[in-house]
Parts: sequence; C-alpha cells; structure tokens
Amino acid sequence: MALSGLDIYKLLPKTNCKECGFATCLAFAMQLAKKAVAIEKCPYLSLEAKANLEASSLPPIKLITIGAGEQKLEIGNESVLFRHEEKFHRPCGIGFIIEDSLTDSQIIDKLDKINSLTFERVGQKLEINLVAIRQINDGKRFSDAVKIISSKTSLGLVLMAGDLSGLKLALELTKGKNPLIYHATRENLSQVAQLAKEYKSPLVVYGQDLEKVAELTIELTSQGVTDLIIETANKPIADKIWDLTQIRRLALKKSNRALGYPALVIVEQDDPFEEIQEAATYISKYAGIVLIKGFESWQVLSLLTLRQNIYTDPQKPLQIEPKLYPIGSVNNKSPVLITTNFSLSYFTVLGEVEASKIPAYIMSVDTEGMSVLTAWAAEKFTPHKIAESINKFALAEVVTHKKLVIPGYVAMMSGELQDESGFEIIVGPKEAAGIPSFLKNL
Ligand code: SF4
Repeated sequence: MALSGLDIYKLLPKTNCKECGFATCLAFAMQLAKKAVAIEKCPYLSLEAKANLEASSLPPIKLITIGAGEQKLEIGNESVLFRHEEKFHRPCGIGFIIEDSLTDSQIIDKLDKINSLTFERVGQKLEINLVAIRQINDGKRFSDAVKIISSKTSLGLVLMAGDLSGLKLALELTKGKNPLIYHATRENLSQVAQLAKEYKSPLVVYGQDLEKVAELTIELTSQGVTDLIIETANKPIADKIWDLTQIRRLALKKSNRALGYPALVIVEQDDPFEEIQEAATYISKYAGIVLIKGFESWQVLSLLTLRQNIYTDPQKPLQIEPKLYPIGSVNNKSPVLITTNFSLSYFTVLGEVEASKIPAYIMSVDTEGMSVLTAWAAEKFTPHKIAESINKFALAEVVTHKKLVIPGYVAMMSGELQDESGFEIIVGPKEAAGIPSFLKNL
C-alpha cells in the first residue's frame, strides 16, 4: 500500500541536511509520497528504510504479461475494489480450452472458429485473448498440439501440461511467445519453478485455499519466480467469489504481497448457459483470467460485452476517433452531418443515416467524448472547434457544395459557424430520429 508523506518521514534520518535538494526531510517525504522525486536522492537512508519505501511503491497487484506482440494480454496492476473509486485498468483475459485428444483437423477447426470470434461494439473491437492447450495424452501428443496451435494463432497460450516432459517440449516450441505455464502445485513446485525461470514464462500457482496459495507464492518469489497468477481449487460459486474477493481485498487493503497477483478461474459446465453465467460472475468479481470450454459465438459475445461494460472508465465517456466518416457510397455532393465524438451520439446518428439509405458523411468533432448539448455548454463544441475540424479533415476538398448540417439543438451557433467556416449552415433535426426524413427532403 502506498505510504503517506508522514509515514515516509518516519523512515527518513530527520537531519534536514538538504543534500536531497529539499530544505527539510519532511519536504522530501511529501514529494516522495507524490512520486515527484526518486528515493535515491537521499543518500542517508538505511537499507531497511530503503527496502520499505521500495516495497511500498510497488503496485499492490502485479502486472503480468502473457503472450507477445500486439495480442499480448496484460492483467493486474489494479488499484481499487470498486469501479466508481477510480476505474478497473486491465480487462480480464478470456480464453478457450482445447484438449490434445482432438485430431489435428479438429484442432484446426476450433482455431478457425476462434480466429473468427471478433465483434465490434460502440467503436471498440472485442475479442478473446487466450488459447489454453490441455494435455490428455502423452507429452509428444501435447507438444504436437501446441505446435499446431502456436503456428495458427497469435493469441497468448496457456500450457496446461500434465507432466514435466510435455511441458518442457511445449516451452521449447513456444520460445519467445511468453506462454503461461499451468500450473505449479505443492508437489511439483521446484521443478516447474525451474522451467518458469529457464523460459522466463509467467506461472499459475495452484493451492486449495488462499493460505496454501500464499505459502507457494512466497516460496516461488524467494526462488526468483515473480510473474505469478494464482488459482484456488474448484468449489461452489459462492465460495469461489469469496476467494476472488478476498484475494483482491487482502492485496489492496492489507498489502498482502503473497496474494498480490491476478487470479485465474476455469469454468467447465456441460450446460453452455450455466457455463456462461458462471464465467460472467467471475468476470464481474475480480477474475484476472477466465478459461472456458464453450466456443459458441453467442457465449463469447455475452462475456465480451459484459467485460467491456465493467472495464469502461466510469469517469470517461466512450469515444470514437474524431474524423470524417463516409457512410454508404458517398460522392462530392453527399450531405455532411456534424456530431460529437461521444460514441452514443455518433452511433445514434450513424444508425439513422444508414436507415435513410442516403449516402452521407458524418463529421465527428473532438469534444472529449461529450454529447452535443453537454459539449456546447462546456465550450467543447463551438464554431471555432468545428471550423478547425473542417480544415483538419479537408472538407472543402471532399465535397463541392460547401454546406453543413448541424444538430438542431445548437441552431444558435449557425451564424457564427457560417462566418468562421465559410460553409453554409443548415440546421438539422433536434432528435436523431428525424434524420431520415430530413435527409430525404434536403
Ligand atoms: S538528504 Fe535525506 S536526510 Fe538530508 S534532508 Fe534530504 S531526506 Fe533529509
């Protein structure tokens, strides 16, 4: 947990020698609490004080990376229990389990399906993050399955090996891809830790309950294995929620370093509805990774949508990129409608333009994600800003008519905007629902 300025002051020499560049130790402590100065600026810190200060500046839940490249998954680094306190930073990773008992062609079919499971919602791309390969047969078959999968996906991999020889073969095949090793238990701890160190891979630690998991993470960190993800045993849903909540609470509120890691949950139910309901519960309640076996797009879509909602910053409206969007087969005579870059405003206008079946441009102005009236009241949607966007998107070169349609709610700016932009201003409907008939009569 981060220390206050006074807590830090208690650890300082209190000699006010000024060598750190501050007049007093207290002034230095206050800056250190704000992370505005480095610990090293004070040359007189005891080793113990330095270790305490360094530990307090670490994030309470470690950031863990799985996979490599653009599709790597980063989880952890969370700082709050409740989203309204700030925001949740790293969306829970969602992945599928594929068993090596499938034939090669069945595995390829599954991968093709996984690769097609991407959705777009309010301007954001939603996709899954991980493919887990579970060993059912011998190490050779496991490594063959890993080879096929790693050659056909750039998603992060989870190596659910049943034996060490299979794990070693799979790690050799996936060198540089930073797969997640599943898992270290009390029984195999030192051997798996050795492999995690050798291949620099993150590692799942499995224990019956929080106490057992914490014992293992302490042992592993003392051996230099620190990229950990924790998992407790399968148990009824209410007990699992309790585990997940306590892990988060103890890490954040009690600075329990032994539990300061993201948590993984595996959900496998015969009934696909039950499987999704259970997975959704854990996504809502602090899971860092959820692995499921169901592959249906309706299952995945509901989980991805839920995750998007939970991990949206509540203090920051969903935004789209401010730019000129061509809708339909536009040409240089197509009308241009202006709106803000608040996702909801843009997609409402888009829906109505599409419904009108009249090709048009929508110019979304950067209002920091505010809706039309809010942005106007906050002076983020002003004639000057709109004129800037017109120039930025070279609108005069895109259309020849030099006319703009503005939302009816900001009709009052039409005169000033006409002067600023040199475009003729047409006042559109107040409500987006009026756009189709407005465009047809334009
Ligand atoms: S260098 Fe250290 S001891 Fe000296 S004033 Fe700064 S904080 Fe205090």
